[in-house]
Amino acid sequence: MIPLRPNIAAMKGYVPGYQPPDIASWIKLNTNENSYPPSPKVREAILAELGPDGASLHTYPSASSQQLREVAGELYGFDPSWVIMANGSDEVLNNLIRAFAGEGEEIGYVHPSYSYYATLAEVQGARVRTFGLTEGFRIADFPARYAGKIFFLTTPNAPLGPVFPIDYIAELAGRCDGMLVLDETYAEFAEFSAVELVKRFENVVVTRSLSKSYALAGMRLGLAIARPEVIAALDKIRDHYNLDRLAQAACVAALRDQEYLAECCRKIRATREWFSGELRAIGYDVIPSQGNYVFATPPDRNGQRVYDGLYARKILVRHFADPLLAHGLRISIGTREEMEKTLAAMKEIQ
Ligand SMILES: *Cc1c(COP(=O)(O)O)cnc(C)c1O
Repeated sequence: MIPLRPNIAAMKGYVPGYQPPDIASWIKLNTNENSYPPSPKVREAILAELGPDGASLHTYPSASSQQLREVAGELYGFDPSWVIMANGSDEVLNNLIRAFAGEGEEIGYVHPSYSYYATLAEVQGARVRTFGLTEGFRIADFPARYAGKIFFLTTPNAPLGPVFPIDYIAELAGRCDGMLVLDETYAEFAEFSAVELVKRFENVVVTRSLSKSYALAGMRLGLAIARPEVIAALDKIRDHYNLDRLAQAACVAALRDQEYLAECCRKIRATREWFSGELRAIGYDVIPSQGNYVFATPPDRNGQRVYDGLYARKILVRHFADPLLAHGLRISIGTREEMEKTLAAMKEIQ
């Protein structure tokens, strides 16, 4: 017998969205990737960093990713000491659990949202408590004082789409004894962000990702904004060279090209609104979304049937077997052309 820790032996492990091997032959709308390419400045920056013979790669990258903290800090209005860079926001979510939740201690999150928080907690041996949502899109039965070590709030919520109002999040921050982590992976597609709350509440952390809005899922880039004491703790935990040289170069170029980001997000939001309206016109229930995806329920509330029909037409969307979600589909918003084809397929499947 291999002497594994019992919590590792018992856990199933997270199953990410399917990445088909023949990816180019699919319309891929199952993992909220961006269908547009990243800023052209990203490619230039990577090639410049690499150099003609790849010579830059023989030395380690900046351990602290200092330049990135400066660029991100300036962008969000924080001193660089309030910023940490991560190898995808998943890395910093993991390190937050390691920093704040010991074995047997509790973390909480909303279900449905991002179930990877639970996987990370299982690795740590922490306990997990989930809270449902009310009809009015508030957390059901959130206690007057929440004593868990971390509460993760995905805002905009994925897979459903709505964002939580800033006043409401501020109220939650005041009710949490532990940390309140705002997973703002999709904030660039939303009308507003709650990042200002990091300045008002010492227990609030905001995480961001470059995977979706910046179209850099393949580079693995994310970040967190928090008080310097929290950042210092996270710096002790992370791999010291957590971002490679090419990722660092890509990140600076992407964050500096805000014009490209704004235009890309504008197109996706416009397509999201158009697509939501078209689906409603054929009888779907579509939750108003602030992300680059919509959660849509067909009239017969049989998400699996529509998933199978789309799959047969080489269109990949996300269906969750979870009973709270099985009636619908989470469909990422791609280009207008991709969504026109998807809509046509959905009309056929009706
Ligand atoms: C995609 C996603 C992440 C992970 O982002 P990476 O930066 O790619 O690690 C985290 N949280 C939510 C809610 C996501 O949808």
